Amino acid sequence: MKNYDVVVIGGGPGGYVAAIRCAQLGLSTACVESWLDDEKQVVLGGTCLNVGCIPSKALLDSSHHFSFIKNEAKEHGINVSSPAMDIHRMIERKKNIVSTLTQGIAGLFKKNKVDWLKGHGKLISNSQIEVQAVGDDSSEAYQVGAGHIIIATGSVPMSIPPAQVDNEMIVDSTGALAFTDVPKRLGVIGAGVIGLELGSVWNRLGAEVVIFEALDEFLAPVDRQLAKEAEKLLRNQGLDIRLGAKVTGTGCNNREVSVTYEDAEGKQQIVFDKLIVAVGRKPNTAGLGANDAGVELDQRGFIVVDENCQTGLENVYAIGDVVRGPMLAHKASEEGVAVAERIAGQKSHMNYDAIPWVIYTWPEIAWVGKTEQELKAAGIDFKRGSFPIAASGRARAMGEVNGVIKMLSDASSDRILGIHILAPNASELISEAVLAVEFDGSSEDIARTIHAHPTLAEALHEAALAVDKRAIHF
Ligand code: FAD
Ligand code: NAD
Repeated sequence: MKNYDVVVIGGGPGGYVAAIRCAQLGLSTACVESWLDDEKQVVLGGTCLNVGCIPSKALLDSSHHFSFIKNEAKEHGINVSSPAMDIHRMIERKKNIVSTLTQGIAGLFKKNKVDWLKGHGKLISNSQIEVQAVGDDSSEAYQVGAGHIIIATGSVPMSIPPAQVDNEMIVDSTGALAFTDVPKRLGVIGAGVIGLELGSVWNRLGAEVVIFEALDEFLAPVDRQLAKEAEKLLRNQGLDIRLGAKVTGTGCNNREVSVTYEDAEGKQQIVFDKLIVAVGRKPNTAGLGANDAGVELDQRGFIVVDENCQTGLENVYAIGDVVRGPMLAHKASEEGVAVAERIAGQKSHMNYDAIPWVIYTWPEIAWVGKTEQELKAAGIDFKRGSFPIAASGRARAMGEVNGVIKMLSDASSDRILGIHILAPNASELISEAVLAVEFDGSSEDIARTIHAHPTLAEALHEAALAVDKRAIHF
């Protein structure tokens, strides 16, 4: 039996980053991964690279360009007659991006001398793992020994009884990244991150999109001011968002799917060509042998860990989507780094208060820290400064007028408590905000930082100035 200092189970952004960091720190490391791609080859990268962050952003970018050419290019003096979308080409492009990146991780494993054990990993004890080959490879299961184990097995889509995914008419996010035609009528259950991102993709490409959201409130975790503004903009783009709508049943034939739902107006029915179910994700511990090995799961199936990602079993850690906290790739990766460094005897640090969120609609929505409603509920006194994107010279030059940046800071110390951005490229702008929060910065710190002109980042500077009512351009 081969022995390693560390064996990581799962090669997504949590697991592969943890494995590389362990190897960098001189620990002999293996990573067990079983993900099969369309060609039935085992690949690294997990949900994020194969069916998550990267393919969804590839389609968001393609559909954004199409929407620009169709709706806005003329304003810039660019005349294009009848632009048409080649969906096959768009999907091929997405596939190529994914395979380049997943192969890149295999290359990084080689470079860092991480052994990639292709197969399904099962815990035998806190120091032994069984690896069973997957796909066409029927080789016998074998065991490896581990000084430390890091579980990074990720998450899978949740399902709901009234809308069983058949991957033909009713699909989950993975199916919605692989449509071969633009559905004329597309239903989406769940107006969360996936529903809005993938709803936007197909809406931009011409689908009539109806999104059913069980809650009465739009984007409940987002700052109310931004959520209201985003709702208005997304509705104007054509997304038919139905709040307080509970789907009670679906019926399919091979051409269409009918959805029955109830909202304030009573029971209703509507027919679609495809239906996406995007109602959240759940931790993945299938076949892991967690219970038998003594790794505790909570009521929702998450592996129970302490603040250092350590399970109740000595030398066994768990990171990423399979443990508490936001299901985000960068959170998984940072936990991976922190655990690797802890195993190597270093003091690790993970600041859960400085994790950025981004929703890749257009404009993008990004935030770090607390929302105004959270601060009010906690009875914290705060100051507020905001700046409209319409007043930014760079945004005007880009042809973008929608959005707002808002900064919230402590009423007495001025320490930044939250920054909320609804803007083009908010996903990039948020990094400055995260850095300020990580450094325990104040609105004054950002107000005194010189920002290049003309940039969208100047709007963040102005929001900081606005906290003490000294914005220049608004
Ligand atoms: P995963 O990426 O799920 O990886 C887990 C890996 O473990 C998988 O490869 C799986 O095959 C493997 N595995 C599981 N069990 C075993 C086993 N027993 N043996 C061997 N291997 C095993 N997050 C963002 O931050 N930004 C985004 O823009 C974003 N967009 C997303 C878009 C979509 C459509 C989806 C679905 C998700 C998106 N996410 C995004 C979420 C992000 O993908 C996850 O938070 C992230 O992938 C979690 O990383 P992980 O390493 O914990 O798990
Ligand atoms: P989500 O939690 O963001 O949204 C699910 C939505 O579905 C919620 O608004 C919920 O109220 C609604 N819902 C639940 N049950 C319902 C029902 N029966 N009928 C109608 N609505 C219902 O989950 P998601 O969009 O599936 O995404 C899962 C996770 O993946 C996200 O929480 C996020 O962590 C991650 N993700 C992140 C990104 C990003 O960072 N940009 C993108 C995609 C996914």
